[in-house]
Amino acid sequence: MEPVIRVENLVKRYASRELGRRAAAFTAVDSVSFSILPGSTLALVGESGSGKSSVALCLACLEPVTSGQIWFDGRDVAALSERESRAVRPKLQIVFQDPATSLNPRWTVGEIVAEPLLVKGRVANRERRERAAQGLERVGLGAEYLERRPAELSGGQRQRVAIARALILEPKLLILDEVLSALDCSIQGQIANLLVELQRALGLAYLFITHDLRMAAHLADEIAVMSRGKIVEQGAVETILRGARCAETQNLLGASLVDRETEAVRER
Ligand code: ADP
Ligand code: MG
Repeated sequence: MEPVIRVENLVKRYASRELGRRAAAFTAVDSVSFSILPGSTLALVGESGSGKSSVALCLACLEPVTSGQIWFDGRDVAALSERESRAVRPKLQIVFQDPATSLNPRWTVGEIVAEPLLVKGRVANRERRERAAQGLERVGLGAEYLERRPAELSGGQRQRVAIARALILEPKLLILDEVLSALDCSIQGQIANLLVELQRALGLAYLFITHDLRMAAHLADEIAVMSRGKIVEQGAVETILRGARCAETQNLLGASLVDRETEAVRER
């Protein structure tokens, strides 16, 4: 089976943020390679600052790539101009951690979910509204949410709206950057289940980005562990959990076990 996306030797450098010095570039992503099959999930796991979001932004054409290739839909996305990348973007959508800042507070939920159709053009008002309602239905929110505004929704509901919006152009790949991290534990589970259902129903591929190895193990087919810009360990979920060869993986595993213990203490 052909992968949905194939990333080869991706490098992302940022110009140094220090003022007054000659810009020594900082390497946030260092020769990262992976691929994702249709209908499957690769979890990209790593501590904060390891370069996960930089990978996500490069894949979504939101940051220019320093070097390497991103093969998607028969093209190297990394080599496309701004204008050319517009044709690819609908098929490759990204959802961020904090829907409170990624959803326009002045818009209604209906307008937010349907906005990608507007950008695409030539979709009549009525059809936009209908498709927004269908999109909301798909993420477990009824048409009664169309006229609400983000501030009236809970964190979980806002994340459902962000997912509905990402799905409206029928992408093949969803990049999910810490989409569960800002949510309460019980809500995390609900949104995780929704993601699993949507994947089954729509045959979507996911790049699921998280610092929580336990959550990654729950959702993914394969795990890639990132540390300081590099993938240090990669394989099937069971292999990574059982083996945990790298110190980085062991640390992450330890961190999610600690999370679980503190939860258990809290529950007591
Ligand atoms: P993660 O998502 O794993 O927390 P990021 O990709 O956000 O990691 O960041 C990786 C590294 O790149 C960090 O050290 C961060 O400070 C740096 N970085 C991220 N964005 C920029 C930027 N726009 N300019 C300079 N450095 C950046
Ligand atoms: Mg990040």
